[in-house]
Amino acid sequence: MSLDHGRHYLAIPGPSVMPDRVLQAMHRPAPNIYTGELVETTASIVRDLKTVARTEHDVAIYIANGHGAWEASLSNVLSRGDRVLVLHTGRFGQGWGMVAKALGVEVEVIDFGWQSPVDPARVAEALRTDADGAIKAVMTVQVDTATSVLNDVAAIRAAMDEVGHPALLMVDCIASLMCDRFEMDAWGVDVMVAGSQKGLMTPPGLGFVFFGPRAAAARETAGLVTPYWDWTPRSAPAEYYQHFFGTAPTHHLFGLRAALDMILEEGVEAVWARHERLVGAVWAAIETWGQAGAVAPNIADRAARSRAVTTARAGSGGGAKLRAWLPEAAGVTLGIPLGEGVLEDMFRIGHMGHVNAQMVMGVLGSIQAGMAALQIPHDPLGLAAAAEALSN
Ligand SMILES: *Cc1c(COP(=O)(O)O)cnc(C)c1O
Repeated sequence: MSLDHGRHYLAIPGPSVMPDRVLQAMHRPAPNIYTGELVETTASIVRDLKTVARTEHDVAIYIANGHGAWEASLSNVLSRGDRVLVLHTGRFGQGWGMVAKALGVEVEVIDFGWQSPVDPARVAEALRTDADGAIKAVMTVQVDTATSVLNDVAAIRAAMDEVGHPALLMVDCIASLMCDRFEMDAWGVDVMVAGSQKGLMTPPGLGFVFFGPRAAAARETAGLVTPYWDWTPRSAPAEYYQHFFGTAPTHHLFGLRAALDMILEEGVEAVWARHERLVGAVWAAIETWGQAGAVAPNIADRAARSRAVTTARAGSGGGAKLRAWLPEAAGVTLGIPLGEGVLEDMFRIGHMGHVNAQMVMGVLGSIQAGMAALQIPHDPLGLAAAAEALSN
């Protein structure tokens, strides 16, 4: 006997749960790729992507996962031998920096560890010592999906402005877009990268690079531009095929159209508020469990935690035990740990995109059942605390 019947909850931080509406929008024959619906759909997607990114500037769409969007963003603004400052708060800032290094860019790192956000004062300090402006870009994630840390992007911009440094601010919002509040133009972000398969509720395979006027100017002298990654024709196509430098990702576009419809019908602010309320339940459960055991969130300070994903510790190998127990016993898959530390102790819960209260209570209740079954010490009032957080 297994309790894994009914709909399985893939509670990992991407790919996220796909709404039926997205699946149904994709279930159709191949469309005309020259004129008509697909061309109009693409134009409306470009418009609506800018709405969710809170920008009036440009976006290029790539048939790529987030790693492709990383490379695209760098190749449009940098040249071999340029210097960048990469802010590490876990695995994903590191990964983006490694792509820059492999492209021949000189990478300077500030490492904030695996349990803390970027400290803007240290960014200001590093830029102050770069008096001749050799650093061309500051690269950071908004949310690092390994640690579930949320970085304060507006404060990083303020630190750069305080020093008067001309570097571009480049932000990875692959995990956080449409989960944690993000305001590209208001926060002075020059380049933002995102992907389809997390808060945007669409299968992996579309990468997005948003760019403002300062980044567009950097493109004019960037030596790393290649035909496929060049954002210029993609963002201002004279012919439809230039949007994608070849065949359009037809069904991903139909799926993304449906996902954006859902987001805009709900409202961008309401989507953020829903994630905020739901994550409150996750935090309340984990914090309460920890009152009688070793369970704890990876990020101690609530202000530095993401609304897209939560990384937690369960003590003495509890993370690995829970991850093994939950799929078959409860129909839930948790995210694997990434990075450093005692990995068997850790687990991650994805709560991005198409998620509601009963799903969050379901995953938390299943984890608590698992802790009871596996004799992982915890305070069972965790679930009550989660319900309380949802009811407020
Ligand atoms: C998922 C993720 C990536 C990588 O995206 P892929 O689609 O797996 O290449 C990069 N950065 C962050 C913050 C992510 O969450």
